[in-house]
Amino acid sequence: MSKRDYYEVLGVGKNTEARDIKKAYKKLAMKYHPDRTQGDKALEEKFKEIQEAYEILTDAQKRAAYDQYGHAGVDPNRGGGGGGGAEFGDIFGDVFGDIFGGGRGGGRSRARQGSDLRYNLEMSLEDAVRGKEVEIRVPTLVECDTCDGSGAKKGSTPTTCPTCKGNGQVQMRQGFFAVQQTCPSCSGKGKIISDPCSPCRGQGRVEKTKTLSVKVPAGVDTGDRIRLSSEGEAGEAGAPAGDLYVQVNVRDHEIFTRDANNLFCEVPLGFTTAALGGEIQVPTLDGKVKLKITPETQTGKMFRLRGKGVKSVRSGSVGDLICKVVIETPVNLSSKQRDLLQEFEVSINGQAAKHRPKEKGFFDGVKKFFDDLTK
Ligand SMILES: [Zn+2]
Ligand SMILES: [Zn+2]
Repeated sequence: MSKRDYYEVLGVGKNTEARDIKKAYKKLAMKYHPDRTQGDKALEEKFKEIQEAYEILTDAQKRAAYDQYGHAGVDPNRGGGGGGGAEFGDIFGDVFGDIFGGGRGGGRSRARQGSDLRYNLEMSLEDAVRGKEVEIRVPTLVECDTCDGSGAKKGSTPTTCPTCKGNGQVQMRQGFFAVQQTCPSCSGKGKIISDPCSPCRGQGRVEKTKTLSVKVPAGVDTGDRIRLSSEGEAGEAGAPAGDLYVQVNVRDHEIFTRDANNLFCEVPLGFTTAALGGEIQVPTLDGKVKLKITPETQTGKMFRLRGKGVKSVRSGSVGDLICKVVIETPVNLSSKQRDLLQEFEVSINGQAAKHRPKEKGFFDGVKKFFDDLTK
């Protein structure tokens, strides 16, 4: 039987670039692939012819030999290459690698592991500090009950993929290089399902919203992640499931702000108590506590309450509560109260600097400022 011209087989010209030859081959291979031609011998032969032409014309050296000597110049069954079947897988894998998303590279990939999932958990500061068991609902993929994740209809079993013989990978040889590709026939699963399970459409997984109980440990903060092993998406065809990461996000609190294990809050303070000293009540996450105010407290002063912060989720050490006092100017004064303040003001007349620690320094600064201006 005389062989057809390779260029003719692929429908390309003598000067067509390898890239375009590949494209032409891809089209033809899709059409004549044995998976589609259902055992038609004539079409199978045609497919073999196509792949042989492709193999020669995409190898620069072989193509040159073919151009010069015709079929006599090339031997498609190069030494040691094994049967045509093995070659078929090789070339097919190379060309279709990009269509099927390529392999993961290296090793046998088979069925893919389930994806990891992330769940954003909003919680109050109190719950984050004390810890809490919460119920979350996570939309995910779970193993199909009907087929136990195999993807094959009940009573049938998936068959080993003939292209890769179950490896999920095929090898492409190009000169000295051997390149592993994901098997295009089974997308790397190594198995072919001829009779798919209907609830999961052969995927072995179905969508489901899972309800999970999560124990959030005391002391977590925004950005902390809790990993629930194997609670992510189910894997394909019995492959391991992914993990679920619960990402903590603590809502702003009305009173407290958190910095690492310390808590901060602002506490209003009456000016008399600030001047004379005394005791006030301040809030903590465990209720109110008394705070001693030293006499002559200025606004903005910080008071530290040791051990009233947050217990670290990692080290177990406990932070502090830091209260910043803000002194309030009295409002809604009665005439009697005004008189008393007036009386007080008269009593310190001429000695302001003695009673107001910042005043002298401030007015000295202002004086210097104006003196400098008028120089
Ligand atoms: Zn199923
Ligand atoms: Zn395969």
